[in-house]
Amino acid sequence: MTHRPLRLSLSTAALQQNWRWLADRAGVPAAAAIKSDGYGLGAAGVAERLFEVGARDFFVSTWDEAEALGPLPEGSRLAVLHGLGPDDAPAASQGAARPVLNSVQQVQRWRAAFGDRPCDVMVDTGMNRLGLSMDELDALDGLQIDMLHSHLACADEDHRMNAAQLARFSEAKQKVKARRYSLANSAGICLGRDYSFDMVRPGLALYGGIPRAEAKGQIRAVVTPEAQVLQVRTLKAGETVGYGATFTAERDTPVAILNIGYADGYWRNLTGRGHARMGDTLLPLIGRVSMDLVAVDISRGGDWREGDWMALDFDLPKIAADAGVSQYEMLTGLGSRYERRWD
Ligand SMILES: *Cc1c(COP(=O)(O)O)cnc(C)c1O
Repeated sequence: MTHRPLRLSLSTAALQQNWRWLADRAGVPAAAAIKSDGYGLGAAGVAERLFEVGARDFFVSTWDEAEALGPLPEGSRLAVLHGLGPDDAPAASQGAARPVLNSVQQVQRWRAAFGDRPCDVMVDTGMNRLGLSMDELDALDGLQIDMLHSHLACADEDHRMNAAQLARFSEAKQKVKARRYSLANSAGICLGRDYSFDMVRPGLALYGGIPRAEAKGQIRAVVTPEAQVLQVRTLKAGETVGYGATFTAERDTPVAILNIGYADGYWRNLTGRGHARMGDTLLPLIGRVSMDLVAVDISRGGDWREGDWMALDFDLPKIAADAGVSQYEMLTGLGSRYERRWD
């Protein structure tokens, strides 16, 4: 394969430890949301590593994602969150994944095409995005439901909606027979075991995101972007670097130009805020973040040469705040140009 000048260094130990912490905290088995290519880390690599520590249930959003994933380890179950749309029967008939049915219409479509094959169902308890509403639950009579789901809208905050959704989901559980019940995402796991039911469905926190204060110091970073140095130069005092000439060197400043930019999810808003990292030393980015390049002030240290690899600081809560995006966007924005390398 052609050499790639940027890579994601991914920690197997941190991913697996995060899964264990979430399952322990919930007190029930944890599934894994691996939609959007495993939140940017690579869904197949994530699934394989989580299977090793005991994860058996995996979730993607679309049938196309299910197909791209390829076969999961024997004994895994894959579900498609967006359910069975009008064009999805051919993909569903292959049987590699089951849908999470989201509406009466999807339930009818499933029954017509697949009879009593087991499926999952989403019930809406207040998110008002996908799912059957509480007064449509009769439509589920006789369906072979493996897992009944709902999804929390405000679990990352202390919001009255959390208790309200919990109460509604408990009511749905009374009315709908399923083999298992599941409500909580990463943030929901932090709310306490009342929210656990039979299985929890973390995504973000598996990948090092901190959904709530309870996870601070517990969830470990999984992802570090690393980029190759393309050129080393010295800015003379008074010279500028990059588009718009936004940074002017006050003194002669050694600079490394790295092969990474906003097209790699290293957002332009990190201009003036982002850092490269050498051990514990942070090396500030200077000038604007471009599409494929950034400039780093290396005067704080290091003997940097063309071809060296430099790590970018990727403390998720901090860098997301600096970029003005969510931790989710920071992860899912990581593009296709990285080589993904698990240790
Ligand atoms: C994405 C998703 C999750 C995972 O949410 P996180 O906030 O990333 O933990 C869980 N359940 C459903 C239905 C989802 O769509």
